[in-house]
Amino acid sequence: MVRVRFAPSPTGYLHLGNARTALFNYIYARHTGGKLILRIEDTDRERSKKEYEEMLMDDLKWLGIEWDEGPDVGGDFGPYRQSERGDIYKEYVEKLEQSGHVYKCYCTPEELEEERKKALAEGRPPRYSGKCRNLTEEERKKLEGEGKSYVWRFRVPDGEYIIFEDLIKGTVEINVDEFGDFVIVRSDGSPVYNFVVVVDDALMKITHVIRGEDHLSNTPKQILIYRALGFQEPKFAHLPMILGEDRSKLSKRHGAVSVRAFRDDGYVSEAMFNGLSLLGWHPKRDTEVISKEEIIAEFDIEDVHNAPAVFDRAKLKWLNSVYIREILDLEDVTGRAVPFFEGFGYKADFDYYLKVMDVIRDSLETFMDIKERAKPFFVDDFHYDEDAQNFLRDESGYKVVQVFYEKIKDFERITKEDFKKITKEIQKELGVKGKGVFMPIRVALTGTTSGVDIAMLVEVIGIDKVKHRIQRALEYFG
Ligand code: GLU
Repeated sequence: MVRVRFAPSPTGYLHLGNARTALFNYIYARHTGGKLILRIEDTDRERSKKEYEEMLMDDLKWLGIEWDEGPDVGGDFGPYRQSERGDIYKEYVEKLEQSGHVYKCYCTPEELEEERKKALAEGRPPRYSGKCRNLTEEERKKLEGEGKSYVWRFRVPDGEYIIFEDLIKGTVEINVDEFGDFVIVRSDGSPVYNFVVVVDDALMKITHVIRGEDHLSNTPKQILIYRALGFQEPKFAHLPMILGEDRSKLSKRHGAVSVRAFRDDGYVSEAMFNGLSLLGWHPKRDTEVISKEEIIAEFDIEDVHNAPAVFDRAKLKWLNSVYIREILDLEDVTGRAVPFFEGFGYKADFDYYLKVMDVIRDSLETFMDIKERAKPFFVDDFHYDEDAQNFLRDESGYKVVQVFYEKIKDFERITKEDFKKITKEIQKELGVKGKGVFMPIRVALTGTTSGVDIAMLVEVIGIDKVKHRIQRALEYFG
């Protein structure tokens, strides 16, 4: 039974990199019929915030990622917040102490800094000298008697190579001399990530650790702890880095990188899910548009690419437009767009929103485009664009609008077919070409020379608004 986990630290918004990690864990769990565990890594008391934890969960749910065990849903292997697992960690520090795998180190931060500088100056990789490694019981008592505080360090076997098979990277081989004895509990008694992550993954029976490549250098330390505690090692899969288009590590410099920001910018969750799945993976058939169900059916962790993934913002936008335009049904997409309509001050009932969306959704890349695209459906007192004005200052254009008004003034309702019929009549009667008829009417109804299909607009806004806008234009340019 596959058991995977997503283990975020609640110290900020869920960003694309972490969202991709969560997504791959989720997909792999569903693909294999296994379980996804959500574990909150909130040992950094200063930076961890309850609000961030809530937002993380909310963003994950929005993306369509559900977990089987976690702080909110419970499970047999809790608690699922590290801040609630202090006693468990203590127990395992004791075990490591008894087996001689850890020792107390009394070196002060100043001494360590001195050592570090010296190593760098001599061109050696900075690592702990091992000064406190073999202190006698008496020496320790003496130091503690002097009121010295201590950290717990892991006794790293000299010269050993840690070799493991990463499901994505292949064989990874690291000489432990590169890092030396590392701290597992700080002087204030708080345990560090590399230690607690092992205790948690082992006790939660995690079978596959799928996480970002930035953690690759932590893995040998974690393997040493697995071995020291006699835990079974999980399989590891380190996901490729995500780069911006300039091929540097994706960061805020490249624009919005939090899931929340994309949500607020009018992206739909299915497009995000689809887009994130392409960061390091590609479906077998030659397509970029692929549903959650298909991804789950096809995905395998071993198919994830080793090479870095480049985040293509334009592609995500395009994907979003495909979901808005073709994939989501009209009711659904309209429902999601309502907060945007309202946010832009476009108030109406749901039926009206449906009609508007039916007309404009083909032209939307994100819901943000609703602001401009839906404007003619809601705003009557618009300005006439500078270049648009010429169409009504022109005698023939003005005449077209006048005749149009004469023809509709007794209408009680108007359809797009009526509109087409009337404009054809005007072309004939006045001997004016298509554009000479449509443009003045378009400007009279919207104030601009481009945008929405006018016949559709007329049908949706209804005859009263049409009359009102036409009268307004005739007065303004008369
Ligand atoms: N809390 C760690 C992070 O957010 C988890 C790393 C891991 O998955 O082991 O990066």
